[in-house]
Amino acid sequence: MSYDIEMKKRNLVVANWKMNPESLEEAKKIFNAIRNSAKGLKNADVIVCPPFTYLQPFSKLDFPKNVFLGAQNVFGETKGAFTGEISAGMVKNLGANFSIVGHSERRAMGETNEIVRKKVQIAFNTNLMPILCIGEKERDKDGNHLEFIKNQIKECLTGLSKKDLVGIHIAYEPIWAIGKSYKEAMSPTDIHETVLFIKKSFGELFGRDTADSLRILYGGSVEAENASEIVRLGNIDGFLVGHASLVPSQFSAILKAADIKK
Ligand code: PEP
Repeated sequence: MSYDIEMKKRNLVVANWKMNPESLEEAKKIFNAIRNSAKGLKNADVIVCPPFTYLQPFSKLDFPKNVFLGAQNVFGETKGAFTGEISAGMVKNLGANFSIVGHSERRAMGETNEIVRKKVQIAFNTNLMPILCIGEKERDKDGNHLEFIKNQIKECLTGLSKKDLVGIHIAYEPIWAIGKSYKEAMSPTDIHETVLFIKKSFGELFGRDTADSLRILYGGSVEAENASEIVRLGNIDGFLVGHASLVPSQFSAILKAADIKK
């Protein structure tokens, strides 16, 4: 999956189902509802990232042209004796075109920037577009969280080729805002400022063309109630949505909010 300038004109909404739901039947119900909402969209694309076990049955379903399948993670090696792990090639062969990489919940299980870098590289080598998650644990008034974000970008991406870096997808997800209610999400103006900082960091680290081609999504308690305001004021290219992506009425409202001409 390579960079396509047309894609940047459309918002992107990623549904991260995490370890939900428990049955394939329930998963198909939610997927059908998402598919129906997505059919009405003119300016937004959707990536559904179910647990690995649902990728294959989902790949056999009908997809509108703006709905894609993604994985929530891939392993940092291509093959070998790695009990319990799933490779980028495996998910690609099941029809996924994207993968979330470096989600904070995986980093909390021990994934370092170095491990994340390997995963990003392998995803690119496999023609799977990585959606790299970055974000601080907490904010502080001295701005140390900004250095933390810049360091994540540097350590997760240094050494990658320019060809891969151009058009990369970044999910900015402040950890303190994940899994709460819209009332505790980041404010649109703070999101806007942080997005500018991420672009500036990319410019300094990897050059202006890379910074200009970035697709930056916001994640962290996006719900029906705050999605429109973030789209309007947040300077983003879409969302990464956790809990609200499992509730069809919520997710449908988020998709509608993202469906604007850019
Ligand atoms: C996430 O885990 O990536 C996420 C954004 O979750 P939530 O929407 O539940 O905050």
